Amino acid sequence: MPIRPYILAETNWKAIKDQFFDLAILPWGATEAHNYHLPYSTDVVEADALAAGAAKFAYEKGAKVIVLPAIPFGVNTGQHDVKLDINLNPTTQIAILNDIIDTLHRQNIFKLVIINSHGGNDFRQMLRELGLRFPAMFLAEVDWYKIKDISAYFEEPGDHAGEAETSLMLHLKPEWVLPLAEAGDGIAKKFRFKGMREGWAWSERHWNSVTKDTGIGNPVKATPEKGAKFINLLYEKIGDFLYEVAVTNKADFYTDD
Ligand SMILES: [Zn+2]
Repeated sequence: MPIRPYILAETNWKAIKDQFFDLAILPWGATEAHNYHLPYSTDVVEADALAAGAAKFAYEKGAKVIVLPAIPFGVNTGQHDVKLDINLNPTTQIAILNDIIDTLHRQNIFKLVIINSHGGNDFRQMLRELGLRFPAMFLAEVDWYKIKDISAYFEEPGDHAGEAETSLMLHLKPEWVLPLAEAGDGIAKKFRFKGMREGWAWSERHWNSVTKDTGIGNPVKATPEKGAKFINLLYEKIGDFLYEVAVTNKADFYTDD
C-alpha cells in the first residue's frame, strides 16, 4: 500500500517539514480480552481504521489533517483481574494527553480530535481541564459506538465483542478472528438496581461478575458485509465532522440555527 500522506506513522520529514496542519487526530484504543474469538487489539484496530478512513475522507475534501499513532492502552480498572487486560489509569491518560497537546500547541496545531474506541475511556473531564490549561486549543472526543444508526445496521449490536464489533473485525482483520462457533454467547448480567438500569445512577461494572466469556452481546449474527456497510457510514460521518472542525474558524464554531 502506498504511503498515505495524512498518516504520521507512514509519512516522513521530507513531506512534513514545510506543511501546515489544522487538525491532529488521535486514535485511542485498549488492550483487552474480547470474548473468545476477537483479538486483544480489537479496539486499537477499530480506532486506527476509523481514524484513517475518516481522515482520508476529510483530506480528500481538502482539509489539512494528520493522524497520530494510536495509543494502545485504555482504562481497564473494572477488568483488573482479566488476564493481560492492560490498565492505564485516567490520571495517566491525562498526563499523556497533556504532553501531546503541549507539542501540538507549541507547533501551532490548535485542534485535536480523539477517535475513541473503548467504552472505559472517557476523555470529557480531561478535555475540560486541558482546555483550561491550553485555551487556544479546540479539543474533542468521538465515540463511534454511540452513533445512533448502529441499531439500523445490526440486529443486536451488543456492547463488547458482540455483533457490531465482530462484524467490524470480520471486515478489517478476518485473519485474527476465530470461527464464530468458538465464540462465547456474550450473555451478560446487569446491575439489579433500578437507578442504574434507568441510566441515572452509575457505577463501574466488575467485568468478571457480569460475563463469563468477557463478551457482552452475542456475536453469532456478525458478518463481514455488515461490518463493511457500517464502517463506510462511520468513515463518512466522522470524516465529515473532521472536515468541518478542520476548516471552520474558531470564531464561527457557534451558530443560531
Ligand atoms: Zn472493543
